[in-house]
Amino acid sequence: SIRTVPLAPPDVIFNLTAKYKADTFAQKVNLGVGAYRDDAGKPWVLPVVKKVEQALVNDPSRDHEYLPILGLPTFREASIRLILGADSPAIKENRVTAAQTISGTGANHLGALFLSRFYSKEVPIYLSNPTWANHKPIFNNVGLETRNYAYFNPKDNGLDIDGSIVLLHACAHNPTGVDPTQDQWKAIADVIESKKLFPFFDCAYQGFASGDLDRDAWAVRYFVERGFELLICQSYAKNFGLYGQRAGCLTFVLKNSDAAARVSSQLAKLQRSEISNPPAHGARIVDRVLNNPELYAEWVENLREMSSRIKNMRDALRDCLIKSNTPGNWDHITNQIGMFSFTGLKAPQVAVLKEKFHIYLTDNGRISMAGLSTSNVEYVANSINHVVNN
Ligand code: PMP
Repeated sequence: SIRTVPLAPPDVIFNLTAKYKADTFAQKVNLGVGAYRDDAGKPWVLPVVKKVEQALVNDPSRDHEYLPILGLPTFREASIRLILGADSPAIKENRVTAAQTISGTGANHLGALFLSRFYSKEVPIYLSNPTWANHKPIFNNVGLETRNYAYFNPKDNGLDIDGSIVLLHACAHNPTGVDPTQDQWKAIADVIESKKLFPFFDCAYQGFASGDLDRDAWAVRYFVERGFELLICQSYAKNFGLYGQRAGCLTFVLKNSDAAARVSSQLAKLQRSEISNPPAHGARIVDRVLNNPELYAEWVENLREMSSRIKNMRDALRDCLIKSNTPGNWDHITNQIGMFSFTGLKAPQVAVLKEKFHIYLTDNGRISMAGLSTSNVEYVANSINHVVNN
C-alpha cells in the first residue's frame, strides 16, 4: 500500500555531493561527480555552446513548439554520422535508425524497453563488473534480468548463454577508466559472434575520452564493419557539457532498410507513451554544431581542451604520488582514459580521505579526474599517500 511505501536510500553520488557542499573545510575536494570542471574547479560552458546558444536566443524563427516524436531529424542524422562515421556503408544502405532521447540515460532506457518488448524478456543482459551504477536499475526497471561479466578478459567471463544481450562501454569505461585494446575488442567481438549475443553499446564519452572523436568511436565502427546488428546510446552530457539539457540519441544498426523502418516505427510508439517528445534546446545546440563545419572545428578544439586538462591532471597526480614515494604502482592513473580513474583505494581508505582530509569519492575508490586542479592535486596526492601508508 502507498501508506507503507519504504524509504529509499539516497543516490550515492548525489549524496556525496550534498555532503561535500555541506562541508565547511577550505581545502575540501569533490572527486565524486562525473562532470567536467575547469582548473578553477568551476563548471565550464563550452565556448562553442555559448556562441550557439546566443545565436539561438536571437533567432526570430525559433519557437517552443513540440519537436517530432523521434526528435529533430537533422540532429538524429548528425548523431548517426558522428558515431558511425560519415561514410559508413550502413548509412548508405539505409539500415540505420535513431531516436532523440533524454540524454544517455534515456537512450539506455529506451533501448532496454525496446529490447524487452521485441528482442526477448527472457534473456538476461550482461553488464561489466563493475559498471555505471545506473545500468542495473535501468534494465531491471523494464523487467530484464541483469548478470555480470568479468571485465575485460573475454576468456574467463560468464558469457555462456546464447542469445543474451551484452552491454559494452564504447570508450572510457565507467568506473574503471580501463578500455580494451583493439586486439581485445576483436576477441570480444569473436565471443559475441559465436555466442550470438546482441551488442548494446553505451557511448557517453565520445571525444571527451581521447580528444579524438573517431578514435573513441573505433569499437562501435569495428562491430558495424563486422556486420553485427546492434544499438548505441549516445550522450551529449560530457562532450558538449550539456549535462542538464538532456540531449542524447539511441541508434540502431540493422540488417536492412526494411528492418530499420519497422524498428523506427516501434521506437516512435514507445517514445510517445514515455515522453511524447524529446526536449528541444540542447538538441538544437548539438544540431547546429554538428551540421556546421566551422562550429564543428571549434567544438573539437573545446573537446581537446577538456581532454588535455584531464590528461595533465593524470600526469600530475601520478608524479606527485611517485615524488612522495607512495607505496605501490601508479601507472594505471595515466593508462586509464576518460573522466574517471579507478585508484585501487579500498573503502576504509576512502573513509579516511573523506573524514580526515575532506576529499569526497565513491567507496569503490573511483575518482573523477575533473575534480582535480593544479591547486589541489598535491593535497590530494599527499592525502592518498597518508592513507596508503597508514
Ligand atoms: N552511461 C555511462 C557509462 C555514463 O557514465 C553516463 C554518465 N554518467 C551515462 C550513460 C549517461 O549520462 P546522461 O544521462 O547524463 O547522459
